[in-house]
Formats: sequence, C-alpha cells, structure tokens
Amino acid sequence: MSDGLKILFVFVDGLGIGGNDPTINPLAEDRFPTLNRLLRTATPLDACLGVEGLPQSATGQAALLTGINAPKAMGRHIEGFPPPALKALIEEDNLFKRLTAMGKRCTFANSYLNIEPEQIPPRRRSVTTVMTLSALGNVRGTAELEAGRAVTHDITRSGMTERGYTGPHVSPEEAAGHLTETAEENDLTLFEHFLTDRAGHLADRAHSIACLETLERFITEAIRFADRPNRLFIMTSDHGNIEDLKVRTHTMNPVPLVVLGRYAEQFSELTDLCDVTPAIIRLYGS
Ligand SMILES: [Zn+2]
Repeated sequence: MSDGLKILFVFVDGLGIGGNDPTINPLAEDRFPTLNRLLRTATPLDACLGVEGLPQSATGQAALLTGINAPKAMGRHIEGFPPPALKALIEEDNLFKRLTAMGKRCTFANSYLNIEPEQIPPRRRSVTTVMTLSALGNVRGTAELEAGRAVTHDITRSGMTERGYTGPHVSPEEAAGHLTETAEENDLTLFEHFLTDRAGHLADRAHSIACLETLERFITEAIRFADRPNRLFIMTSDHGNIEDLKVRTHTMNPVPLVVLGRYAEQFSELTDLCDVTPAIIRLYGS
C-alpha cells in the first residue's frame, strides 16, 4: 500500500509536552504558533519506558530508532553517546537497516563537515550516526551541503563557522527546503536537531527562545512536505527538557509525536518511544 510513499522524520532532542505557563514553558508563548498547534494536537509518548530515573538521550534515541526498550535492555537510562553494549544493540537492528532490507532508500540528512565517516571518533558517535553507518556506511558531508541536499544540525549553519565552515549561512526556511528536497529523493529521510536539549540544560530563557524561533520557522516550512500527495511528516523527541525551564535536567514529561499527511491516522494509538519504528515498518510491510 505504500508505493511512492516518502517520509520525512524530524527528531528534536529534549522536547517534551509541558504546561501552559509561558514563564516555565517557553513553547507556551504566542510567538510559536506552529509549534503550539503541533504540540497541542500531538500524540503523547512515554519516554520513561518503565525504567527508574530521568530518561536520557542514548537509550531514548535507541528505543525510538530500533523499537527495542533500550533502557530496559541496558538496565538504566544512558545519556549522551552510546557505550559499546548499546552501540551493538543499535547496529544489530534499526529503522534504516529494516527499510534498506526492504529495498527502501534511507538517508540521514545531517551534514558532517570536512570529515570522512571513519574519522568520526567512535566514542563520539550519536545513536543516529551509529545507525546510519551500520546501515549505509556513510554520512552526508560538505559536498551535499553545498548542493542543498543536507542540513547542519543547527539548521542555519551559523554555528558551523567556528568549526571551520566557510560557506554561506541559510535561513531556517531555506534549510527546510533543502531537507524536503532531500526527502523527495529518498523513501525515508531523518534529520536530528539537538540544540533544544542544550538550551534546556542551560535553562536560560532568552537562549531557549532564540533556539525555538529558529525551530519554529524551520518546522513551519518543513511541514508543508505533508501537503504533497503520498508524503508523511513525523516529528518526535527522546525525552523532555526545554519545556520546563525551572530545571536544568531532562523531565519525565511525555514527548510529542506529530504525524501529518498520508497514513497519519496509523500513528494515533502509539504510546511510547518503542512504538515508532515498528509503525513506520508496518507502513511498508502491509
Ligand atoms: Zn540532555
């Protein structure tokens, strides 16, 4: 049933469903109409997964992208970059590997700058990078970025200059255009944005609002992908953080699952992070 279906999957680190008080939750501010609307109508997903403690990135992202309860398998929530045992779990089976085995084209739209995949230090490989290298063997780089077929994790490339990037910056809308055109060339395109989690850890209001302003503009443009025929837009997170500026830590709030476009209704019953990958696989398998 999925012939011609193309999926754009935007992963936003540290974005939970918070309360309505804008002094605590910057997302409740009027200045983010798209994010407000999407979060209000999103399906809440449990990120705690029955394991004690605050949910963390490495195990949360692994659960999201493998469908396995990674914190339970590891016995705890693990932050940051996945250690060897978790890395092995991700490499064994994941969303990209499953879809590739079904003959589908997957890509990770994030661009690495001036670096070959083998130069990425093993201990600094995120879950998304581990998955991408295990399934595809490569990541996007400067050439794809220059061709408008990749996006830097910070969206506008402005944070890349200090890391040796010498090209132009782009607006959030231009970056969203690069992402949606990349998504047209693949069956599933994943993009990861983690500055929301960094902002949440700083718990600095002005910094968080600046970060969310970029995201608001980017997402407002990117969701237009779902208006095209046979296109599906997914946005979700690994755990809460930026929606509660009272604390510098992650939160136990559910994360939003935003699904727009073709087959969106098939995602409305999902309940936790482990449900997302199986639901995507089912679209292609049935
Ligand atoms: Zn974090």
